[in-house]
Amino acid sequence: MPKYLGIIGNPIEHSLSPLMHNAALRNQNLAYRYIPFKVEKDDLLAAVQGLKVLNFVGFNVTIPYKVVVIPFLDEITEEARLIGAVNTVLINSGRLVGHNTDGIGFVHSLQREVGITPEKRKVLIFGAGGAARAVAVQLGLEGAEQIIIINRTRERAVLLAQELTEKISGTIYQGFGLGTAELADRVREAEIIVNATPAGMLSSHLKKPPIREEWLRARQLVVDLVYNPLITPLLNLARKSGAQILTGEGMLLYQGAAAYQLWTGYQPPVEIMRQALMERL
Ligand code: NAP
Repeated sequence: MPKYLGIIGNPIEHSLSPLMHNAALRNQNLAYRYIPFKVEKDDLLAAVQGLKVLNFVGFNVTIPYKVVVIPFLDEITEEARLIGAVNTVLINSGRLVGHNTDGIGFVHSLQREVGITPEKRKVLIFGAGGAARAVAVQLGLEGAEQIIIINRTRERAVLLAQELTEKISGTIYQGFGLGTAELADRVREAEIIVNATPAGMLSSHLKKPPIREEWLRARQLVVDLVYNPLITPLLNLARKSGAQILTGEGMLLYQGAAAYQLWTGYQPPVEIMRQALMERL
């Protein structure tokens, strides 16, 4: 009898998680199946309860349910509470425990792909949505010195910085609008620059990076969370300036790897998971 894992969201057809997890499970000969489920908004509670009574080991939660699923769970981890969203649920003796592996996925991609740890780093993040929040929380928890959040809607950046300043000690959070006069200086001062907006996606009309080539230098790392395409206009510009780059599939891969380990207890076969992703990307 196989054990079951899955993902709930809407839409769900484009999710790469089933590919990645099933490839890993096959590779390790584990008798699990990972199944995607498209769930309508009004059916969310029934879907979550259904997965529980059907003895699923756990499941991923994706857009648009990462926040609204929380009241339907028995408990959530400290990271998920700070991020305010759950992307992974572990069902433990009938208890639904919500985790968030997005932030740790980002940090693992930094550490394992380019050998960079967040401790004492100065980071600049474009965006103040769900992905930016996960990255800003985890980098703070891992000891980043300063995190500057730049967002199109200034108030969202300011509010997020204020909230994280109150909740996470030891990291300086500041929020600004995209039009801030000191943008060039702030980019120059940052060691790690992260795009956590959809700008640069194939489907986004906004292709122009928010920074100029001359603001970057060789010692900086530029990360784009967008992975479709892998090399975005921002990463192209960063390459030209000589800065180091990191593509967005790393965060996707390592958030999946962290969930896999939670569910199965096994060390995930990361390269097999990457291969499954890259075949599709
Ligand atoms: P979200 O919660 O909807 O937030 C979107 C953010 O992008 C907001 O801060 C928004 O600013 C900003 N934004 C949207 N359109 C913009 C534009 N045209 N110009 C400038 N800023 C714009 O989305 P999310 O979940 O954070 O995801 C953001 C991106 O990260 C997605 O496109 C996805 O590709 C990527 N992502 C990647 C991974 C990964 O594993 N690699 C994981 C999650 C997300 P306002 O506040 O002004 O609206």
